[in-house]
Amino acid sequence: MKNKIEITKKQIRVNSRQLAVRKPTWLKVKYTVNDDFREMREIVREHNLHTVCEEARCPNQGECWRRRVATLMILGDTCTRNCRFCAVGNGKLLPPDPQEPIKVGKAVRLMGLKYAVITSVTRDDLPDGGANHWAQTIREIRRQNPGCKVEVLVPDFKGNSDALDTVLAEKPDVFGHNLETIERLYPKARPQADYRQSLAVLEYAKKSGAITKTGIMVGLGESDDEITDLLENARSVGCDICTAGQYLQPTKEHLPVDRYVTPEKFKHIEEEGLKMGFRAVLAGPLVRSSYHAEELL
Ligand code: SF4
Repeated sequence: MKNKIEITKKQIRVNSRQLAVRKPTWLKVKYTVNDDFREMREIVREHNLHTVCEEARCPNQGECWRRRVATLMILGDTCTRNCRFCAVGNGKLLPPDPQEPIKVGKAVRLMGLKYAVITSVTRDDLPDGGANHWAQTIREIRRQNPGCKVEVLVPDFKGNSDALDTVLAEKPDVFGHNLETIERLYPKARPQADYRQSLAVLEYAKKSGAITKTGIMVGLGESDDEITDLLENARSVGCDICTAGQYLQPTKEHLPVDRYVTPEKFKHIEEEGLKMGFRAVLAGPLVRSSYHAEELL
C-alpha cells in the first residue's frame, strides 16, 4: 500500500512537470512552404540579407512568407546586447555593409512589398548606433519602391536624440520601438536596457510627429496588473499602436516561460488597450511586433 502511494506521488510530480513545459494547443502552428516562401528565402540568401523572421525563430514564418511578407533586419545578425529572451546572436561584430541599404531596397522590390517593416540589431559599438545606416535604408527603399510604406522597429540608440532625429527626419510611416516587458523584469530580461529610456524614445518620436508603436511579450513573469501598468505607461507617452504576444523560449539558455496566456486573456488586453486610447492593439498568442503590420496601421 505504501509503495502504491509513493508511485502515485511520483506520477503527480512527473505529470505536473510535463504540464509546466507542454505548449498549449493554441501555440501549435503548421509550418508549410510554397513557391512564394521559397522565392522569399532565395531573395534573402542571394542578397546576403537577414530577417528577424529567421533570426528570432518567429513562429509565423510559414504564414508570413507564404503571403510574401517578411521583416528585414539590417546592420548584421550580431547584437551588442544580451537580452535573455532573444534568439539573435552576439559575438564578433562586423562593420555595417555599405551596400546593405541598396540591397534592402532591391529585396523589397523583388518581394513585391507595398509595406516594408525593417528592424535591426542593437549596435552600441557604432558612434551613431547605426542611425545613418537606418536613414540610408529608408531612403533606398523609397527610391527603388515608390509608394512603398516603411515601418521601422528601432533600438533605443541609448536615448541619443541626434540618432533619433536622423531616423525621424526620414519620416517613417510608423516608428516602432519595443518595450518588450514590464519595468520590474528589465534587470533580468533586458539588463543593458532601461524601461524609462525606452518610454522616452517613444515620447520623443511622438513629439516629433511620428505614429508610434510598441510591442510586448507576456509570459516572462509579469502579472496582469503589471501589463495594465505598462499599457498605461505607453499611452502616457502618446503611443498609438501596441502589439502583445506570448513569449516562447528560443533555447534552453534563454529565460523559461513563466506562463502561457490564454487567447481570452489576450482579447482582454486588446480591449483594455483600446479603452485606454490606443489607435490599434493586436494581442494574441502568436502576435509579434511586425505581425500583420500593414493591416494594423
Ligand atoms: S510576424 Fe514578423 S517576424 Fe514573424 S514571420 Fe511575420 S514578418 Fe517575420
